[in-house]
Amino acid sequence: MKNPQPPINREKENKMTHYIGIDLGTTNCAVAVLNAQGEPDIVHNKDDGQNTTPSVIQFFDKSTYDVGMESYKSLGMDDVFGRFKRYMGTDKSYKTTFGERFTPENLSALLLKKLREDTEHGLDGTISEAVVTIPANFANDARESTLAAAKKAGLNVKNIINEPTAAALYYSFYAGRDLNGTYMVYDLGGGTFDVSVIKIRGKKVDIIATEGVKELGGDDFDKALQQLVADKYQQQTGSRLNQDDYDLIEAESDKKSLSIRVSKKIPLHSNGGRATIEITRQQFVDSIADLIKQTELLCEKVLSESAKSIGDIQEIFLVGGSTRMPCIIDSIKRLFNKDPINFVNPDEVVALGAAFYAAYKSDGKNLNTLQKLAIADVQIAEITSKFFGTSAHNRSTNTSVNTIIINKGESIPCTKTRRYFTRYDNQTSINLDVTECDNAETDLKYVNTIWQGEMDLPSGRPKGCPQDVTFSYDENQVMHCKFSDVESGRTTEIDLTMGKKSDDKFSTDKFISH
Ligand code: ADP
Ligand code: MG
Repeated sequence: MKNPQPPINREKENKMTHYIGIDLGTTNCAVAVLNAQGEPDIVHNKDDGQNTTPSVIQFFDKSTYDVGMESYKSLGMDDVFGRFKRYMGTDKSYKTTFGERFTPENLSALLLKKLREDTEHGLDGTISEAVVTIPANFANDARESTLAAAKKAGLNVKNIINEPTAAALYYSFYAGRDLNGTYMVYDLGGGTFDVSVIKIRGKKVDIIATEGVKELGGDDFDKALQQLVADKYQQQTGSRLNQDDYDLIEAESDKKSLSIRVSKKIPLHSNGGRATIEITRQQFVDSIADLIKQTELLCEKVLSESAKSIGDIQEIFLVGGSTRMPCIIDSIKRLFNKDPINFVNPDEVVALGAAFYAAYKSDGKNLNTLQKLAIADVQIAEITSKFFGTSAHNRSTNTSVNTIIINKGESIPCTKTRRYFTRYDNQTSINLDVTECDNAETDLKYVNTIWQGEMDLPSGRPKGCPQDVTFSYDENQVMHCKFSDVESGRTTEIDLTMGKKSDDKFSTDKFISH
């Protein structure tokens, strides 16, 4: 889609240091910059002048690569990788035919490097500070990995922001009136669905609750349409439709067209010869009814978590390309009995909000008066997206169980301490760990252990010596953990912090983008 905004005024922007927001999406990325008037503008991508760039990387050899639309069109071929954000923070390996292996973090680093270079080229200035956005329900590892990827890409990223918060920030600026109450950010993208309940007063944004489904979005709608077309072709010709004769890229394009038209004729040529089939919007909507139902159930879940009812939600802000589908708007209207708000391209809102945030989090030295004014009243309050705890021995059941120290939904920053006791006389060491989970689990089978260690204790003491465990979750959503033996004052401190994963040897330096 072409940019509806006027081009950036180069004279004023020239030689400025820039504050930018990057929406590093599963499907598409967008970059925005705070302009000299204190308003965020989308930065067009260099290759095809679009406002968003597909998050797809293609390698041509051991050191040359490309990111964007051309790569997206080659998805499915060797050396082309997409949708890796789903696996951020894991060791999943993407192997090229040139013998290189990449983690999702390193692919993201290359993607971000290309975005940085394009942005610097487009703005003719340096990027002073960037903020990268992440889904609100990203696990600690995935957050760290995102920060590490940004660092490897040569970006000065000190802060990350949750996607719904960035979107709410943008909507709060441009609503044309002071927002005051409880709102919902409804984000249906290509691969994920996230929904958050947010309190907004002026430019003060508090997330109250957030929920997400990792595998629900436009990709699933594309598959459903591909299946529907295959079924119709078979009915009409008696032969099966070869998937390559109607691939997911064609399905996506027809899906978008069904957002505008109520029916679409699709010419096909496959095993059963030529046939033109017709798909109506209603048939397509029927084929994804279960998925739409899931989005509605998740809206109800997040409302109940935030102790709000449908009537409490003043407005619903749309985010994500899939909210362009009329059936999604209808579903929201049915559920909330009101029209959702959408006065900007839904796939750009997150980057635009993040550009404000980059300026807001900066030391302010390079901001001009208008920019300072724009961020003057901003205040952001985030919440934790997971439960964090540690394993401990439960005396009554004589088993190891998970115990929670920081609850999901706790306001950030927060610090919590919980006291434990040694189990044996003369206990000279203690196992330490940090767990993370989506629900308040006691069963260790269902938690993710994100750190493990051990601490030596003084000898010769009876059992029952107090051990304090303190978890602090800072504004950047990074955890600091302190385990202390109260009597001796011995402590073990760890920072589940940015850059931890970046000490691997990967560097983006040798890679050149097209
Ligand atoms: P993400 O946050 O996953 O990176 P986006 O917010 O950019 O993704 O949304 C991408 C998804 O939106 C894709 O599945 C794309 O097909 C879908 N999309 C974009 N425009 C339309 C449209 N007009 N109608 C239906 N789906 C659309
Ligand atoms: Mg998105």
